[in-house]
Amino acid sequence: MRVLVISDIHGNLEALEAVLQAAEAEGGFERIWCLGDVVGYGPNPNECVARLREFDHICVLGNHDAAALGRVNLEDFNPDARQAVLWTQKQLTPVTRSYLESRPERVVIGDYTIVHGSPRDPVWEYIISPSIAQEQFHYFDTDICLVGHTHVPAVYHHFSDDRGRWQLAWHLPEPGETYELRSPDRWIVNPGSVGQPRDQDPRAAYALLDVEERRWHYYRVPYNIERTQYLMRKAGLPPRLIARLSYGW
Ligand code: ZN
Repeated sequence: MRVLVISDIHGNLEALEAVLQAAEAEGGFERIWCLGDVVGYGPNPNECVARLREFDHICVLGNHDAAALGRVNLEDFNPDARQAVLWTQKQLTPVTRSYLESRPERVVIGDYTIVHGSPRDPVWEYIISPSIAQEQFHYFDTDICLVGHTHVPAVYHHFSDDRGRWQLAWHLPEPGETYELRSPDRWIVNPGSVGQPRDQDPRAAYALLDVEERRWHYYRVPYNIERTQYLMRKAGLPPRLIARLSYGW
């Protein structure tokens, strides 16, 4: 089965549409696995949820989804993010709200564990370094864990060396790269962010996964950033959040 793996759409419908179209052109997909944060920051939270729901999909809860539901102390967010959360809370329709309310924090399918942040703390923890990644392998039982949350594509490869000691290799993947997530090694992989990339590449990020072959392929696709920025200005969202989309930072 071919799966489109996406994360951190953040209410950016322009970026989501570009990803859906590009993934279709790359051979298509049968299912979407979404790693959370469908809403927050961007101008189209309801539209993004509705679009996702047109597909056979799985989606876990992200920290911004939880915040939009009012489940989070807003002091955990910086001032711009907080303002965006408050704006998003006001936009949510009852349908969007009940969809977000029913998101699980963790889903396990076959060889894959799916969370937003980390297997240890699914909604909140950022896996931003090999040392943090190293600690995570005790907290899931499958070979592979898919995470988002950092908005930066990454591959953490846990393998046993010649002497049977576990080692960790860390890769910052380039678009176009393929990773064979072979067994018995274990893997934590992050597809990057659709709607607010933070690796200095403003293009929307996604991955296509062949579930049985365990082949993971990275992609980037340009989208109409100006259109999203225009809608954000119209909504009165914070200027810094609007500007950062141009830089992917
Ligand atoms: Zn996010």
